[in-house]
Amino acid sequence: MAVVWRLIWIMLCFGMLSQQAALGHVPDTAGPEQLVTFLLNQPESSQVINPSPSWHIHWEALSGYLLIFAGLTGFVFLLVLLWNTRLRREVSRRRQTEAALRESEQNLLHSQRIAAIGSWQLSVTDRVMTCSDEMHRILGVEPADAGDCYKQFLNTIHCDDRLRVENYFYTTLRYQNELDCQFRVTGDDGAVRYVKCQGKVTAETVHGTLQDITERHLSDLFFQGFARQVTGHHGTDYFNALAGLLAETFNVAYVLIGVISKTEPGRVDSLCLIAKGKIVKDFYYYLADTPCQKVIENHVCFYARDLLLHFPDVEVLQQMEVESYAGIPMFSSEGTCSGLIVMLDQKPMLNEQAVLSLLQVAASRASSELQELEAERQLKLTSLVFENTQEGIIIADANGCIIRVNRAFTRMSGFSESDVLEKRPEFLYSRAHHDHHFVFHLRQVLNKQGRWQGELWNQRKDGSVFPALQSIERICDNSGKVQHYISVFTDITEKKADEERIQYLAHFDAVTGLPNRVLFNDRLQQSIQRARRFKRQVGLMFLDLDRFKYINDTLGHPVGDLLLELVAKRLQDSIRQSDTVARLGGDEFVVIVEDLDGQDTLRVLAGKIMKSLSLPVQLESHRVNVHCSIGMSVFPEHGNDADQLVKHADIAMYHAKESGRNQAVLYLPELSVRTYANYSLERSLRHAIDTAQLRLHYQPQVRLSSGRLDSIEALVRWQKEDGQLVEPDQFIPLAEDSGLIVPLGKWVLQQACRQMKCWLDQGLTMRVAVNISGLQIINSNWPGTVKDVLEETGLPARHLELEITESYVIQHLDQVAEVLEQLRELGIRISIDDFGTGYSSLSYLKRLPVDALKVDRSFIRDVPKSPSDGKIISAIIAMAAQLGLEVVAEGVENAAQLSFLSQRDCDLVQGYLIASPQSASELNEWIVRHYRQESEPAGRLLVK
Ligand code: C2E
Ligand code: CA
Ligand code: CA
Repeated sequence: MAVVWRLIWIMLCFGMLSQQAALGHVPDTAGPEQLVTFLLNQPESSQVINPSPSWHIHWEALSGYLLIFAGLTGFVFLLVLLWNTRLRREVSRRRQTEAALRESEQNLLHSQRIAAIGSWQLSVTDRVMTCSDEMHRILGVEPADAGDCYKQFLNTIHCDDRLRVENYFYTTLRYQNELDCQFRVTGDDGAVRYVKCQGKVTAETVHGTLQDITERHLSDLFFQGFARQVTGHHGTDYFNALAGLLAETFNVAYVLIGVISKTEPGRVDSLCLIAKGKIVKDFYYYLADTPCQKVIENHVCFYARDLLLHFPDVEVLQQMEVESYAGIPMFSSEGTCSGLIVMLDQKPMLNEQAVLSLLQVAASRASSELQELEAERQLKLTSLVFENTQEGIIIADANGCIIRVNRAFTRMSGFSESDVLEKRPEFLYSRAHHDHHFVFHLRQVLNKQGRWQGELWNQRKDGSVFPALQSIERICDNSGKVQHYISVFTDITEKKADEERIQYLAHFDAVTGLPNRVLFNDRLQQSIQRARRFKRQVGLMFLDLDRFKYINDTLGHPVGDLLLELVAKRLQDSIRQSDTVARLGGDEFVVIVEDLDGQDTLRVLAGKIMKSLSLPVQLESHRVNVHCSIGMSVFPEHGNDADQLVKHADIAMYHAKESGRNQAVLYLPELSVRTYANYSLERSLRHAIDTAQLRLHYQPQVRLSSGRLDSIEALVRWQKEDGQLVEPDQFIPLAEDSGLIVPLGKWVLQQACRQMKCWLDQGLTMRVAVNISGLQIINSNWPGTVKDVLEETGLPARHLELEITESYVIQHLDQVAEVLEQLRELGIRISIDDFGTGYSSLSYLKRLPVDALKVDRSFIRDVPKSPSDGKIISAIIAMAAQLGLEVVAEGVENAAQLSFLSQRDCDLVQGYLIASPQSASELNEWIVRHYRQESEPAGRLLVK
């Protein structure tokens, strides 16, 4: 620019110079320096130079003017240029200012929005008001024309506040220069907001702000209300108050505080429901597809309006006609959702933030209350359990001093809580049972293992003691520091008594209170061990009352028991304290004599016992003399161990009985062991009859001509306690010798008749054959017994058959004949058993009322090979036919025997070929297998 200026300046100078030169004032040859100097000194020089007119001079003047013109034009141009540049600068500066202004305006609006503060301006004279956008937002209205703005502002004021605010504005605008008030406004959307209006009045204008204080106001309302209405309540009252407060604060129609049902997880049970100001009790609903389900799943839910558009199918919402919804979940201490708080309203719900934040507060308070209730419930339950449990409980502090006991403790010990508070539980332990070593040990275990369990004796308040099963537990906190000791105990007096009773019953006899067989064995062994160690003798006495069975049978068991008690007492009185009397069962007693100093002492003692027992006894109204037989043995002379000693004393006792009873016999090796074995077996058999160890097996007899099941023989078995089956051949002779056959035989008859009656009732019309011994016939009223049994069992006599052995019949022919006659009269069939083994003079048969002969199996065994046996059988069959008797062949084991018998017209067969003796139930199956029962109840045997 400077260059341009300079150029214009130079042009102007040249122009003027050339004009001056044309007028002759400047030398032609003058250089620029001269020119400048010339121009600077022009006034003086102009006075000397005088222009002179010529065409040359004119041309030069013209070009000078042109130059001046050009210079001036350039000057003007430059000025214009300069002006233009300035103008442009001004424009851009203004633009920048405007942009800055706009930005600050935006910032202002923004800040207003954030602070929820709007600004306004009101002309005092003409009431023209201008409002910021935020102000309109707060008021909830669309911006109006400036002229209507003030009116619009007044209209938004809540009707209840309007008069107050208008008056305040009126007076403030006139008399004051400060304006500050709070009121409610209702926007076009119907929502109510709380505002704070502040302003400053200057000469003609009021500048003011309007702040939305709804959130603050609601929260003030809520917290003040909470302190006033909710705090201090508990349980249902608490939830009612909280729901009421929410309804009031937010002015909503419905508030629900609910928990997820524990039994049905999809259901919500209300803790409190407020519906239009009223409390609804026992309300519950199902979560499925409701907004509440979202609350439970999504945690927060807010619908300001149009709730039903979102949930058109939820009937309950339809019925409530609700528009808006806000829900917040409640959480348990474990962080799981336990319930929810929900507000519903029939108008839109605004102030989402305020609503949700205060609901959040309410939900957390409600959760705490719920947890507190749960904890209280647990505590109550624990306390209930503590107080009502059957076990005594003692709680001690870390120092081991009692701080609590329960009711059971008081009941068992007799000490009340105040009696024992601050004492150490050890004071309860019975001094007589536990010394300080025990307590020391208990503490050691407790310290090491944290737990002690065992039985101990506690002392009651009255000084009595009781056994207790006690467990003591040390309770520590997380850091391992001891907090408490808990002791739980049960009174085991009864248990102990039961145990002792069981122990007693296992070792003592219930009738006499004497040691039983178990304890006797134990004591005898101990005595033998002691005697062995100290080289001493032990005496053993086996004692059996004579004819005790008779007393028992005639006077009855209670009297028998009385006698046993008395005998026990007399025995105990006769011996030393160190000796043992035991009862082995029945009328058998044993005495262990410790530290025996010779066999004579034992004999003397036996005499003393017999004397003491022989004194007459008064049993109720009966005076009885008791005698006994005693067998004695001595360790080590008569046996090296308990079994031998017992056996030998028993043998000696048997001999005492054999040799006329009422005496004491010392064991001698010469005493017959064989007779003793029988005696011992007899004792067992007697026991077997008493304890139902006998069984009956049955074996069929089949008629050869028809295959019909004609008869079934009953055969007795003895099943011992260990399951072993004893065959009759081993015990029937013994039973016959001992007379036991009488009760045994009666039992067999009863059993067989009873079973036959069952078969008869099932349509099986055969007979049952019962074996009888001679002794049964001779020594008892056998026909009378049979008659009684038939009557008792209801079996017709024709279904009973009695088998009597040939040998016995022959020996006692007259007596047998008479009895058999009586039996025959009853209608009973009689057969002679083991026929052919006796004296085979057949003439006796004519004198007896017999129906059949049972050919002994020794004759059958070897036919058809043995011609002699074959002949005997043929002869028996022929003779029987003559006498009108039937023949039964027993012991048929093969088809050859069967065919032989069949050819000889034998009537009946019995043997393993047809069937072995078997139990009644097995025989039932056999009958079903071999006979067509439906058509022919006892039809043809299908012998294969
Ligand atoms: P018994 O009256 O002669 O009885 C038949 C015996 O022969 C039974 O022996 C039976 O099992 C057996 N027996 C049956 N079929 C066959 C066979 O094909 N081959 C062989 N080798 N033997 C067969 P058990 O049951 O041992 O009876 C033995 C004896 O005991 C009987 O002989 C009988 O005299 C007697 N007895 C059995 N039960 C009683 C009863 O209740 N009272 C009486 N007083 N005596 C009975
Ligand atoms: Ca028989
Ligand atoms: Ca026989």
